[in-house]
Amino acid sequence: MKNADIFNESKKYMPGGVNSPVRAYKDVDVTPPIIKKGKGAYLYDEEDKEYIDYVGAWGPAVLGHCDEDVVNSIKNTAEDAISFGGTTNLELQLAKHICTTVDNIDMVRMVNSGTEATMSAARLARGFTKRDKIVKFAGCYHGHFDAFLVSAGSGVLTEGIPGSEGVPQEIIKNTIVANYNDIENIKYIFDKFGEEIAGVIIEPVAGNMGVVPGDKAFLKELDSLCKKHGSLLIFDEVMSGFRVAYKGAQSLYGIKPDITTMAKIMGGGLPSGAYGGRRDIMEQLSPMGPVYQAGTMSGNPIVMAAGLATLKKLHSNLSYYNHLESLAIRLQQGVEEVAKEKGLPIVVNRFKSMMTIFFNKEGIVNNYEDAKKCDTSLYAKFFKHMITNGIFMSPSQFEAMFLSVRHTESDIDKFIDIMRNM
Ligand code: PMP
Repeated sequence: MKNADIFNESKKYMPGGVNSPVRAYKDVDVTPPIIKKGKGAYLYDEEDKEYIDYVGAWGPAVLGHCDEDVVNSIKNTAEDAISFGGTTNLELQLAKHICTTVDNIDMVRMVNSGTEATMSAARLARGFTKRDKIVKFAGCYHGHFDAFLVSAGSGVLTEGIPGSEGVPQEIIKNTIVANYNDIENIKYIFDKFGEEIAGVIIEPVAGNMGVVPGDKAFLKELDSLCKKHGSLLIFDEVMSGFRVAYKGAQSLYGIKPDITTMAKIMGGGLPSGAYGGRRDIMEQLSPMGPVYQAGTMSGNPIVMAAGLATLKKLHSNLSYYNHLESLAIRLQQGVEEVAKEKGLPIVVNRFKSMMTIFFNKEGIVNNYEDAKKCDTSLYAKFFKHMITNGIFMSPSQFEAMFLSVRHTESDIDKFIDIMRNM
């Protein structure tokens, strides 16, 4: 069947033909390829067209698609253990691996998505501090939990909507939206509401308004404000965790958050999430403490096995991170060169191997307001050219590009050559 036929039929049975909005390619005048297979850095659609993949499953595919060790761990586990709703040794192994190889996590709770991780972390911060308000930053996306769908990034920003219908005002009245990378603004918020703030959640390297790295002085100030006011600092490392460095962005900034949320890479590409942090905080969770959170599928054996295979492989090959960064530097330099040659209004933001090519003539993207000034129709034109020529990338301007350890310099050079022919 043709991609278009499958997509059109999908629309009859699934809203927009998709299970997550960005996949619908809403405003880019391209039919989404229907993906049949992924291997290493490559994807293949139902028409057997090959693509070099720069989406990486939106982050998880750091080892490349269908890595042999991950596939074997899934196959072997599935022979004996699909789902029990009882405790398995695999859960212990992954939890112990995370707690012993990542800093600032004494205990961890497994969930099934990044959304669940951030939603539960907010409840835990509220339960621990006995306060109600949570601060989030404009342009950061923490999943589709009601309280965080305010000035959110990712698909919400792509659609240019302020939030979502179906979220009652009472639920968001305890969400305070702050400006990313703005020290004066966060100081003002703490001056005004400090004693009511349960926690502050932030992507230390934002990836959901496109990549906007947190400024070090800003993150340090945020950390000290949280400490001063007894609010918990929650680093949402769903995207940056195990990606910008094995130990996440917090290890590069030298900041110790109270709670860290994870997903994507930690589940090896299967539905997963986790949140962890200081022991005294984590012990507030049910059944030890009064903060309730549960899940039929949480700690699923196959997910644990895929996560463990992925994290072990990354941890025993830390040089992967140098490879990822050097590819990203090559990509950035190539893109900047082409932009200059062709007079394109491009700003490349990159943090290690996370990067975004912004079509922005102001020349700087440092927060949500800057990101909103991007020329999304020019981005759409660029996207259409790239995907038509076999480069699979985000249909939205406001996402990160992801590389895998299986990408080569020649893959990067193909991207640059194709862009040059735009
Ligand atoms: N937090 C961040 C930083 C994310 O990037 C995402 C998803 N892109 C989420 C939370 C939500 O994760 P999920 O889609 O697994 O619910």
